[in-house]
Amino acid sequence: MTGIFQKTIKQASQAARLINLDKKLIKRLITPQRVVSKKVIIKLDSGGNKTFSAYRVQFNNARGPYKGGIRFHPQVNLDEIKTLAFLMAIKCAVVGIPMGGAKGGVQLNPKELSFNELERLSRAWVRAFKNYLGPHQDVPAPDVYTNPQIMSWMADEYSRLVGKKTLAAFTGKPLTEGGSEGRELATGQGGIYILNEAVKKLGLKPKGVTMAVQGFGNVGYGLAQLAYQAGYKIIGLSDSQGGIMALNGKNMDPLKVMETKKEHGQIHACYCLGTVCDCVNYKKITNDELLKLKADILVLAALENQITGGNVNQVKAKIILELANGGIDPVVDGILKKRGVLVLPDVLANAGGVTVSYFEWRQNLKNEHWPESAVFAKLKKIMTDSFNEVWQTMEKYQATPRQAALMVGIKRITEAM
Ligand code: GLU
Repeated sequence: MTGIFQKTIKQASQAARLINLDKKLIKRLITPQRVVSKKVIIKLDSGGNKTFSAYRVQFNNARGPYKGGIRFHPQVNLDEIKTLAFLMAIKCAVVGIPMGGAKGGVQLNPKELSFNELERLSRAWVRAFKNYLGPHQDVPAPDVYTNPQIMSWMADEYSRLVGKKTLAAFTGKPLTEGGSEGRELATGQGGIYILNEAVKKLGLKPKGVTMAVQGFGNVGYGLAQLAYQAGYKIIGLSDSQGGIMALNGKNMDPLKVMETKKEHGQIHACYCLGTVCDCVNYKKITNDELLKLKADILVLAALENQITGGNVNQVKAKIILELANGGIDPVVDGILKKRGVLVLPDVLANAGGVTVSYFEWRQNLKNEHWPESAVFAKLKKIMTDSFNEVWQTMEKYQATPRQAALMVGIKRITEAM
């Protein structure tokens, strides 16, 4: 079976040919500049040692320092990290921020580590990759199952190693330690800006447009909450354990669902407010069922490869907002196009996160702190301008939004190269 990296660069190479890019340049574009694999060892609370496979792929820095998250997940592997690093380079170029693309990861289930073990692992990751990092070299950030706390340990470890406080070496830090206002909500916020523009283009208004959201972590929850406030009707939500679907045309308030999740440890317990639970109007569903719900919009905010040849024909949504990197298997993009589904691709839809990371990096370098209103105003402009550029390219080349985004990104990167 072809791996995700091969599929992704095949798709990108096709887009590159549409803008008549030279073959040699395509070859350079799809080749990572540096791939680093390490074994990271930490001491467990029990006294023993444990070894983990850790990675950092620096794909392309033609437009600026390498930038991209670090994920802690059991499925992390080099093929995946290479793919995500490539997508980071494209993403930064699509939204025009002067940064390159990288990605890192550790293969593990972070839920099996204690708080102290997680800290030791985060610090060990930095020691393993320190020679390749730095504010003007490579600036990591959170990704799946990593968070501001982890970034704070990492920035601290880096500062210790170089002997001076270097906040700009990591982004996505807590507000008290050089983080930016708006960073936590940035990916969801950026996603809503893109979705609203797309809905406008289709001649619709958010009010009453139905939505199902897969993934109820930082990104999915943020998006769902903003969408609910904007008037979209949330009819399905799920996390890695399963999901819930509203019955009888009801709307779900993501904030209340989150409160339930915190109280009961699972999203599909019931729809509760404090001790009052309403189990009548909501039904438990599986993640697979959520993807096939009759909703106008499907939001992918979990992991990659969720829409595949196996389920693409059962997807009923008219718009897919791909907040998860690689949420759609590249080989089914053509089928979605034929079926008239508008896919708002990851490299555009989820670029809000890295854009505010870039703002954080700039604030750290200049020792500034911008108010949230300034952060979101700048973010909105970047996201809507990028949407319009991708949309115009799509119309010009009769392409899909993904092909158009790839064309915009590839053009900028190869010009810099
Ligand atoms: N992990 C996020 C992404 O995939 C953010 C990366 C960053 O902020 O550098 O876009």
